[in-house]
Amino acid sequence: MKKERKTYADRLIGLIFPRRCPVCGGIVLPRGELICPDCVKKLSPVKQPFCKCCGKEVESDRFEYCFDCSRHPKSFRQNFALLNYNDAAKRSMAAVKYKNKREYLDFYSQAACRRFGRQILRAKPDVIVPVPVHASRLRSRGFNQAQVLAEKIGRNLGIAVCPEGLKRIRRTLPQKELDSAQRLHNLQKAFGPGSLPDGTETVLLVDDIYTTGSTLEACTRILLSMGVKAVYGLTICVGRGV
Ligand SMILES: [Zn+2]
Ligand SMILES: [Zn+2]
Repeated sequence: MKKERKTYADRLIGLIFPRRCPVCGGIVLPRGELICPDCVKKLSPVKQPFCKCCGKEVESDRFEYCFDCSRHPKSFRQNFALLNYNDAAKRSMAAVKYKNKREYLDFYSQAACRRFGRQILRAKPDVIVPVPVHASRLRSRGFNQAQVLAEKIGRNLGIAVCPEGLKRIRRTLPQKELDSAQRLHNLQKAFGPGSLPDGTETVLLVDDIYTTGSTLEACTRILLSMGVKAVYGLTICVGRGV
């Protein structure tokens, strides 16, 4: 894992464009930090015990898996999830996507590497694949937050990023009314195989939020059908966001 070292240019940029806090949006003090010391307390890191599959907190360590993962076993090995999707996280993730606050992802990617870097390196992913967004969304938003995250994490951990590993074929309609089987069915039609470097056996899939897990599951199934042997996930948030 790389230690982020501040160059003279970084410091100069910091003076001209002060860093904004991913939680309150204000200028972060002290300079050089990525989040206000008080705001970091508003985020809720996932605590033990958590589901060994999706990374969601579970009520008691008597349960290895959450209700959902024990009822619907997943095709990915494990999802590393950093934060519970509480109000502060929800607002922050929405600002990244809809207010173009991609600089907030510096904090989240660094925090994710600190917490899961060792475990990820132990899993030996050949590449990191971001969950793709549809081209029309990419045009209106200007970037794919999952790809920005993947690139920052890849740089930090020294793992290659392969944004073309999966394709987004179509947009998905709002999924709130659907049950999990329908969601999955819908999503499997939304993604398609892209291209991976020859011999790719292990993939780390990166996305911003894990809610029902249908997206990660659909993407994993496609990667497995492309000959990948093991898929891990990394999402900044996990939970239903309510
Ligand atoms: Zn703040
Ligand atoms: Zn689970």
